[in-house]
Amino acid sequence: MSAKIRAIRGMNDILPEQTPYWHHLEQVWREVLPAYGYREIRLPLLEKTELFKRSIGEVTDIVEKEMYTFTDRNGDSVTLRPEGTAGCVRAAIEHGLIHNQTQRLWYQGAMFRHERPQKGRYRQFHQLGVEALGMEGPDIDAELVLMSARLLERVGLAEYSVLQINSLGSAASRSSYRKLLVEYFSDHLDQLDEDSKRRLHTNPLRILDSKNPQIQPLLEQAPRMSEHLDPESQRHFQGLLSYLDDAGVNYQVNPRLVRGLDYYSRTVFEWVTDRLGAQGTLCAGGRFDSLVSQLGGRPTPAAGFAIGMERLVALLMERDSEPANGARPHIYMVVAGVERVERRGMQIAERLRAGVPGLRLLLNCGGGSFKSQMRRADRSGAELALILGEDELAQGSIIVKPLRSAAQQLAVAQEDIGDYLARHEIFSGGESGSH
Ligand code: ATP
Ligand code: MG
Repeated sequence: MSAKIRAIRGMNDILPEQTPYWHHLEQVWREVLPAYGYREIRLPLLEKTELFKRSIGEVTDIVEKEMYTFTDRNGDSVTLRPEGTAGCVRAAIEHGLIHNQTQRLWYQGAMFRHERPQKGRYRQFHQLGVEALGMEGPDIDAELVLMSARLLERVGLAEYSVLQINSLGSAASRSSYRKLLVEYFSDHLDQLDEDSKRRLHTNPLRILDSKNPQIQPLLEQAPRMSEHLDPESQRHFQGLLSYLDDAGVNYQVNPRLVRGLDYYSRTVFEWVTDRLGAQGTLCAGGRFDSLVSQLGGRPTPAAGFAIGMERLVALLMERDSEPANGARPHIYMVVAGVERVERRGMQIAERLRAGVPGLRLLLNCGGGSFKSQMRRADRSGAELALILGEDELAQGSIIVKPLRSAAQQLAVAQEDIGDYLARHEIFSGGESGSH
């Protein structure tokens, strides 16, 4: 036997036991996003490297050390997308979607970052991304926050998540605040860890985001962005909070909340949970008013968020004691006997699938004794077994045997079995995998 080939570290197979959770999330997206007028856009996985360097920023974790970048056969530098906003904005500019009009867009799919794999942190992971382009006021920020709240609520995770919110101010107020921070940290250089020292002159705001417990007291005492906001950003932030108060949404203003990407300004927010250890951010977003012009478009205000799908699935799986089982068949069909029985069974199965919409029928394939087929029927989780043997073939009948109740089995004429099943309550109680 040849040696086994394993998946690349940090790139997960999503097995059939897990896909019902993914379907559940995707179904919630398809219900909630259109309710707010957001439309789906599908974007390439691979983009020019330049796109991410220019948007995310050269001195961010992502661009410095996490990108899957390679030279393709033409000698062009290309990168597997580490996030979706840059590609979405690129497409919006390229196709004139934000030419004298606003856009509400969403997308879903795989993102790639060469991080150290651990629980909740992978090298291929999946996001739902939402972007609102062309709107400046705090109303759209509020809409995004409320929509993210509704998404989490519909998914069934509202009670596990807390909203944190902050304002990073305008680019100008941030750059003067940045100077204050650098001064403050330079005065306390001896208390900084290596990571923070490295960031001091490249991305000092990111130091505030450090999880190192030893530097927390230093961070507590650091000057606060909220005390150095420009008046416009201050008004914007207060406006957003008023909308959230009106909606009765609970939030915590966290003055140390920053984002790992350069393009954010003003509003930033995160939904966090305490149930997933260190990887507790479920959803992260904010405003990025300078990104469109940074990518060559006309200055256009913008805001958005991204939800990490693996983290929602992990929470749902932790919450459910029993695995979801969305694709459990309603019927297992036993075909025991000569080849003619199997051929007739295939015909009946096809006729039932065509005639009873929504029916999930698992036909026994690969032979086996009556006894072993009945064992498979039981293990399949089906409500009913349909049994076709040589006697039934001769009589033109088929046996209906309840598998989950003490009810008696009975013989039904083959031509009546479709009507019988349509009348029978096979769909009730057999459903699961809904959350
Ligand atoms: P962190 O500070 O945790 O690295 P980030 O700032 O890199 O987060 P974003 O780029 O804003 O995160 O991504 C948005 C969301 O996508 C995160 O809140 C998280 O739920 C999810 N996410 C980000 N990176 C990963 C990853 N490597 N594996 C799984 N999910 C991820
Ligand atoms: Mg990261």
